Amino acid sequence: MSYESIRAIDTATELYAVFGDPIGHSKSPLMLNRAFAAAERNAAYVAFHVKPEGLGDAVRGVRALGIRGVNVTIPHKLEVMPFLDEIDEDARAIGAVNTIANRDGKLVGYNTDGIGYVRSLKEETGVALRGKRVLLLGAGGAARAIAYALAKEGVATIWFANRTREKARALAASIQAYTHTNVIGFDALDHVVGQVDLVVNNTPVGMYPNVDETPINPELLHGELLVSDLIYNPRVTKLLAEAQARGARIHSGLGMFIYQGAYAYEYWTGQPAPVTAMRDAVERVL
Ligand code: NAP
Repeated sequence: MSYESIRAIDTATELYAVFGDPIGHSKSPLMLNRAFAAAERNAAYVAFHVKPEGLGDAVRGVRALGIRGVNVTIPHKLEVMPFLDEIDEDARAIGAVNTIANRDGKLVGYNTDGIGYVRSLKEETGVALRGKRVLLLGAGGAARAIAYALAKEGVATIWFANRTREKARALAASIQAYTHTNVIGFDALDHVVGQVDLVVNNTPVGMYPNVDETPINPELLHGELLVSDLIYNPRVTKLLAEAQARGARIHSGLGMFIYQGAYAYEYWTGQPAPVTAMRDAVERVL
């Protein structure tokens, strides 16, 4: 830590934090401290390793200490909800919170994963999502946020494929008010990949250190697809490399990470996030 950044902390410094278990891998402190520095805001962002049994106490600590805002990551995105005073409508529909804003003691929960993803996808690929047919691989927390955000963008159909079929069914049921849905097994993917425009990997398959794995057989990929992977370590997963080799357009998870943080910054401060500085901070360490 530089002398300047230590010196900047005084009695007026606003505190922000991330809660997760584990938390050691998180790039959020680097990214958000860089954002506060770029905006010349007297604020600091720290990581707390919060175990599930300590989550309620941790949230009470947010109130007691006047922490201004918190990011919530695995495994607390669902469990944190009962401890909050208010849940934003989108976060309630998604069923998960990844951002808490402390508004004069009232704790409000938001979800910035889905909107962060869609902003990154549209800005980096120029895709027009209305009417598109989508295949989502995985049905965990990230898939919930992304399915909801894509449905709100007006995609025509979402196919859900998940290792545990029941979770895909539950997710499809919760989204069907917003778009047309289908649930399929991984064994039926060969019938579906040829019919869709966008494939999104919402599973950790292919993430460092398992960089030689792909969530689906790469031979199914074709040149008409846009293939998107939420993983950003590595930046180009094997799934994306295989897609690109077959002429498909690709989209990495790094932009989602940056924009979910940027929306959190904007909810907390009411100011536009310094996105270029945030991206630079993360790219330097990947
Ligand atoms: P999660 O809630 O734990 O869900 C994981 C999903 O992946 C589940 O559907 C699970 O299937 C599936 N899965 C796990 N291992 C699998 C395997 N070996 N084979 C097939 N499917 C498998 O996690 P999450 O929060 O949704 O995160 C999912 C991924 O998105 C992670 O890689 C995470 O790093 C990434 N992510 C990225 C960002 C970003 O900003 N770029 C943000 C959030 C998440 P089951 O239901 O069968 O267990």
